[in-house]
Amino acid sequence: MENRLRLTSEGDRPPAFDLTAFKSLVYPSLCYYCRKPVHPDAVLCRKCFGDIEQVDRYELLEDLDHIISEGLFSDIFVKFFFDKFGPLRKLHQYLKYENRPYIGTLLGDDLAASLPETWTDYLDPLVIPVPVHRLRLLERGYNQSAYIAEGFASKLCIACVVDAVSRVAYARTQIGLSHEERQRNLTDAFSVDKVDTIRGKDVIIVDDIVTTGATASHLAVPLLEAGARTVRLAAVGFTRPC
Ligand SMILES: [Zn+2]
Repeated sequence: MENRLRLTSEGDRPPAFDLTAFKSLVYPSLCYYCRKPVHPDAVLCRKCFGDIEQVDRYELLEDLDHIISEGLFSDIFVKFFFDKFGPLRKLHQYLKYENRPYIGTLLGDDLAASLPETWTDYLDPLVIPVPVHRLRLLERGYNQSAYIAEGFASKLCIACVVDAVSRVAYARTQIGLSHEERQRNLTDAFSVDKVDTIRGKDVIIVDDIVTTGATASHLAVPLLEAGARTVRLAAVGFTRPC
């Protein structure tokens, strides 16, 4: 069932005269946001999916200029704006707090399908998710970014390694912190556990939501120190700090 799922579908009604259509009459699939019936393979209706605002690439690069100017990233790509009440927020809540990791796989697949062509030019790509601390992993049961990373890597047919890097500091949540507080909160938060896996690779860090980019920035430093040839950042959503 999960492998068939898509973020949205061409038609929101199930095809007639098949078992899936019959099942969907008994257990109708509903859009995760507006609750209208959708194709049984889809999690959002076409309207809600179309309502998620896409990020303008050049505006994004301006917004993240403070981390781009550090020279750590070869490129950064974020697909959607993450607003307070929209369909993406709803999907993210289901993904992060309501045990629906397959939503991460769908978002990762969609993110990979949206990349600029230049992203395929790198020699030896490797995908890693932004890791969470093991205590937070125990709390939540899974790392939502790992599912996004796996969906992303699978779409591009490149390797994804989820345990090459670990989070060594149990950082407080970043929400509600100023830029300076975020920086302090994250200092030395990551360590590379598998240097041989990272050395010589064109690493793509995959994250769910980017705000200031400070988290990815702190992760990029040990990756480059471990010998990564390049580091890029791909994320599903972008939200400006409050
Ligand atoms: Zn909808």
